[in-house]
Amino acid sequence: MQGLIMDYPLTIQHLLERTHRLYGKKEIVSWLPNGFHRYTYADFYRRVQRLANVLQRLGVRKGDRVGTFAWNHYRHLELYFAITCTGAVLHTVNIRLFPEQIAYILNHAEDTVLFFDESLASILEGIQGELKTVQHFVAMGEGTTPPETSLRPVHSYEALLAEASPEYRWPRLDEYDAAGICYTSGTTGHPKGVVYSHRAIFLHSLALTGVDCIGVSERETIMPVVPMFHVNAWGLPFSAAMVGSKQVFPGPHMKPEELAYLIQNERVTLAAGVPTLWIGIQQVLEKGGYDVSSLHTILSGGSAVPRSLLETFERRWGIQIIHAWGMTEMTPVGTVSRLKSYMHTWTEEERFAVRAKQGFMVPGVELTAIDETGKEVPWDGKTPGELLVRGPWIARAYYKDPDSEEKFAGGWLHTGDVVTIDSEGYIQIVDRVKDLVKSGGEWISSVDLETAIMAHPKVLEAAVIAIPHPKWQERPLACVVPKPEYRGELSKEEILAFLQDKFARWWLPDDVVFIAEIPKTSVGKFDKKVLRQQFANYTLPGQEG
Ligand code: AMP
Repeated sequence: MQGLIMDYPLTIQHLLERTHRLYGKKEIVSWLPNGFHRYTYADFYRRVQRLANVLQRLGVRKGDRVGTFAWNHYRHLELYFAITCTGAVLHTVNIRLFPEQIAYILNHAEDTVLFFDESLASILEGIQGELKTVQHFVAMGEGTTPPETSLRPVHSYEALLAEASPEYRWPRLDEYDAAGICYTSGTTGHPKGVVYSHRAIFLHSLALTGVDCIGVSERETIMPVVPMFHVNAWGLPFSAAMVGSKQVFPGPHMKPEELAYLIQNERVTLAAGVPTLWIGIQQVLEKGGYDVSSLHTILSGGSAVPRSLLETFERRWGIQIIHAWGMTEMTPVGTVSRLKSYMHTWTEEERFAVRAKQGFMVPGVELTAIDETGKEVPWDGKTPGELLVRGPWIARAYYKDPDSEEKFAGGWLHTGDVVTIDSEGYIQIVDRVKDLVKSGGEWISSVDLETAIMAHPKVLEAAVIAIPHPKWQERPLACVVPKPEYRGELSKEEILAFLQDKFARWWLPDDVVFIAEIPKTSVGKFDKKVLRQQFANYTLPGQEG
């Protein structure tokens, strides 16, 4: 017997029409190179309809990939909805990749039209000769004439919109139709394409509104600092538009002072970005001068949030950092660390220990962890295993990449993250499989060491990498960036003494080096591949000669 419920497709059109009907008065604010831009969801909707006609005029058909090469701002949001709701595929290109990688993914995705910020034109000009499929470039800027550029043929976004017809009827789409494509910021080999369906984005947007998840709601003023080219700004712009949250976009203004200013002036209540961003903002807030009292929640993830960061934001400014974990392959949210009701009576120490973990699976996501023999590890908070996930917004294959089948073996996504899962279901990322330090046949978690070192009051950032060792196979090396005021004043002995009572002796790094900066990936995570290259010939103390 079958259920007797309507066959109603879960598409992004529903999100857009809901915004249009209910939230026309709510505001979208963008900080562009020439100043602030403000308008309402009603204005937004009218322009999305015009933009849909523009796409049609440029020859975009159902299933075609349309690229965006832009910072976070309202025009980018218009593209999020116009491209997907007309049945084309939104391809958000990471502006911080190396030019060769940008050319590779534009060719691999076969984008036919590319929308770009005028300020980023020079990057595209440099690779124009290599682009095989782009038929139109559209420049996003204030004027109605395209900028001086060698890109051809080039149009002005504002001119195209002004000329377009104001009405558009959305075509009927299937919920399994492709809506977006993002490439992983993978550290090995070519980036891999993840294709999101309408259904995945719909369900993910809904999940983010859960109060035990992120709690995206009409009441919130949301500032996605996480780039709109990094897994659709973690899906926040879609979810926020669906429920009519005021959205605040920083454009290219990514300096900590500028973001603190935006939080203050726009009364942001919920902001999202990688931990390194909040480490920078913490420095600015400590100097004083900004009123960030409106901000009650920060969503952070993408790499481990140091517990010391959670504690500082909560104690100093009453701001709760919600630690979450996800992947490009997961639209991206998988787990969120929120306390269960009965944990609120636990000691502060215990509560921070739980919140510093990556959290439990959000409704819709299923997870488990397996050991090297493929056996599920117990949920005891101690036994490490590789994390496997499955669910309605998790990729089942990469785009045009038959060689990665083992990554999706058995109907699970094999994440490459090593975790423990405790009896309450909270996962803790111990490491990436390839970042673990293997010492004498045992694993040392580089992430645990890093987060502990970053709790030292004189430390700004720290990353731990494995150095080959003749006896132990590998040993940990700590690379530490002191806070500016302590440069030259922090010693290896101080760091090791600080770690001594927190770890078994054999876990302690064999050496500590002080460096000016930890190299970062295009999305702001520690880039251990580059760090490993920098220290490729490093000799640990006692191994000289
Ligand atoms: P990406 O696809 O670029 O978003 O990268 C996904 C990877 O980032 C995951 O597989 C993890 O290794 C890492 N990651 C994401 N969130 C966290 C987190 N909260 N803590 C530690 N690692 C994280």
